[in-house]
Amino acid sequence: MHAALTVVLLALAWGMASGRAVAAERLKIVTTTTDLQALVLAVGGERVDVESIAAPSQDPHAIELKPAQLARLRSAALVVRIGLDHEPWLARAQTDAPVLDVSRGVRLLQAETPRLRAERQAHVHAMGNTHYWLDPENARPMTAAIAGALVKLRPADRPYFEARRDDFVRRLDIRLQGWTTALAPYRGLKVVVLHDSWAYFADRFGLAIVAAAEPTPGVPPSPAELASLFSRMRQAGVRLVIADPHSSPSLVRQVAERGGARAVTLVPSVGADPAAGDYLSLFDVDVQRLLGALR
Ligand SMILES: [Zn+2]
Repeated sequence: MHAALTVVLLALAWGMASGRAVAAERLKIVTTTTDLQALVLAVGGERVDVESIAAPSQDPHAIELKPAQLARLRSAALVVRIGLDHEPWLARAQTDAPVLDVSRGVRLLQAETPRLRAERQAHVHAMGNTHYWLDPENARPMTAAIAGALVKLRPADRPYFEARRDDFVRRLDIRLQGWTTALAPYRGLKVVVLHDSWAYFADRFGLAIVAAAEPTPGVPPSPAELASLFSRMRQAGVRLVIADPHSSPSLVRQVAERGGARAVTLVPSVGADPAAGDYLSLFDVDVQRLLGALR
């Protein structure tokens, strides 16, 4: 009896110890945005511990790294970033951790638009529009790159990461079909955006962006630029103004009223609305908001 009990207790103790070891071995990953965090979590599941530097509603241009965030960036097993000039503040972290730049596998929009970089740390889409996670189709190359990086760090977990990525892509395909069907009646709809965050989303779902209220991304429009925007909006028959949560409310109101359109605030990042808790529900929320504004 005693011997059997000892064996059981030993087995329990061993199980607990190895359980702790497995928990401690979660890969520490830091992402620059919550969208990347959600995608890393979709692929990495319980084998990653992933934190985002940017808060969900934070303007990606304006991040001041705190000491704790710097420490996290420096001790990470992997840093995952959007790339281009989306995170001008990341250079200050001087991390030796491997960095996965997800933009490399994505077809970029506006990459041919030459833009002067007024200041070195500006986020002006100087190398192409950086808001590519807002085309759900881009989650395919993005999660492929993430899975590849995780497998490189943990080759033994390849089947786990690949199975999770496959499952994510299956769910993505089903939801994408639903969003496309829901927005099909509005193909060609003319819209104006505040910041040019919505180029990829518009491209995927057939919305026609007539203009961005910020002629240079991140730079507020001048009164003269606004006046010409209003007349272009009325001439083109723009129906909708798409704002971001950090857009200036008075500017949004002014553009909608003077341009003769309705305004809608879309959610650009996972977590910026409580209902947008993961990557796929981000699009559920945005499609619902668009449909609500057009009704
Ligand atoms: Zn931008």
